[in-house]
Amino acid sequence: MTRAPSTQQLRDWDRRYLWHPFTQMQEWEKEEPLIIKRGKGCYLIDTEGKKYLDGTSSIWVNIHGHRHPSLDRAIKKQLDNIAHSTFLGLSNPPAIELARELIRIAPKGLTRVFYSDNGSTAVEIALKMAVQYWQQRYPNAGPKNTFLHLKLAYHGDTIGAVSVGNIDLFHARFKPLLFPTVEAEPPHCYRCPLKLTYPSCNMACTEPIEEIVKNRHGELAGLIIEPLMQAAAGMIPQPPGYLKRIRDLCTRFNVLLIADEVATGFGRTGKMFACEHEGVTPDLMAISKGLTGGYMPLAATLTTDEIYRGFLGRYDEFKTFFHGHSFTGNPLGCSVALANLSVFRRDKTLARLASKIKLFRRLLAPLEALPQVGDIRQRGFMVGVELVKEKTTKALYPLGAKVGHRVAAIARSKGLILRPIGNVLVLIPPLSISDKELEKLVDILKESIETLHIDAESINGTHNNRQ
Ligand SMILES: *Cc1c(COP(=O)(O)O)cnc(C)c1O
Repeated sequence: MTRAPSTQQLRDWDRRYLWHPFTQMQEWEKEEPLIIKRGKGCYLIDTEGKKYLDGTSSIWVNIHGHRHPSLDRAIKKQLDNIAHSTFLGLSNPPAIELARELIRIAPKGLTRVFYSDNGSTAVEIALKMAVQYWQQRYPNAGPKNTFLHLKLAYHGDTIGAVSVGNIDLFHARFKPLLFPTVEAEPPHCYRCPLKLTYPSCNMACTEPIEEIVKNRHGELAGLIIEPLMQAAAGMIPQPPGYLKRIRDLCTRFNVLLIADEVATGFGRTGKMFACEHEGVTPDLMAISKGLTGGYMPLAATLTTDEIYRGFLGRYDEFKTFFHGHSFTGNPLGCSVALANLSVFRRDKTLARLASKIKLFRRLLAPLEALPQVGDIRQRGFMVGVELVKEKTTKALYPLGAKVGHRVAAIARSKGLILRPIGNVLVLIPPLSISDKELEKLVDILKESIETLHIDAESINGTHNNRQ
């Protein structure tokens, strides 16, 4: 047997051969990459045996912790049968059982499951289904083939998903490749562009969206939204009632509502799906991140009977949905997703989450007093802590100052892994986190922000003016 490469060897190879996502590699090449070898519960363990609290659920995917015995067992058991067989012209038991389970827990009215393997593809599939549906269902109506979406939206990194996204830093460069869409201002209560306050505003921010839908529904195949929370935008929540109003608007004007629950699904907001908070059933729903408990790449697009039926016909009518992936319906992924859902049931994960959400809120409250914390936004277990240069004016730190990254670096040295979005520190711990671990997570975050305080002042040179 050959010896496992040393940490130093791995670091060298990483810097020599790899290209990491969303990473400035020129900086990375100068760093000592942290290499995670193992995990246990809410902890990640590096090649040197050092433990870190997984404050992002490994970028929003992990649900019941790492090395969960039931999830581990499900994969091992499936492996004794088969790792993968195609879903084109064949089926497999875990994919069938999972579809049935997903329909049981999904918002009422969603009746069909189309598998893929990541959040972006689940979104692409929803967009393509919507366009083809209108062509086939109402062939004589005008072409409904564009989409309305919110500014600051993030629906993934493939070209279709980027087309309905709007985060300039990630997307602007690819404009020439994107299809045209219609954009609307999202609600943003902390920085309300209308300078109004909820609830006395009566959500005036929905009026321009109503206008757009009223005037352009003839060309709109759908409206796509991250329900309750625009996550990658920096955790920007929608006020209560917002999603319901959007649903009603879509129904009224025959525009399909596409809910991108990739981030919010599987308990992250306190309910299984964010749409449940508003009693809303979308026409299409994309799920991925938490679907397998964070174990395997798997995704699904769920839809209604009405849309499904729009694709039925004789073969030579060619109403088939011509879309699929090599790993569609992957049995290993589906097995572990089934185990994920049975742990939800057996451990009453959602019922037990309610008190943890309250504790999380209580623990976060003192952070509001910190001079550089502008806003704390929480929806269940999705939290954004926005750092500002000046609290009263809400003045932003320049992106180049990398304040979020610097806080994350301090947190890492204290044993907590965070991944900020600009100046927003994002906390999305696994739902299985204990009260004690939650306390530790917020403690480290607080200490890290306080440490940065001194630092940021020296950078701005303001400490010279202090007494
Ligand atoms: C992460 C994310 C996606 C993209 O999922 P990937 O698996 O990374 O392709 C899409 N929509 C939302 C809301 C997400 O948070």
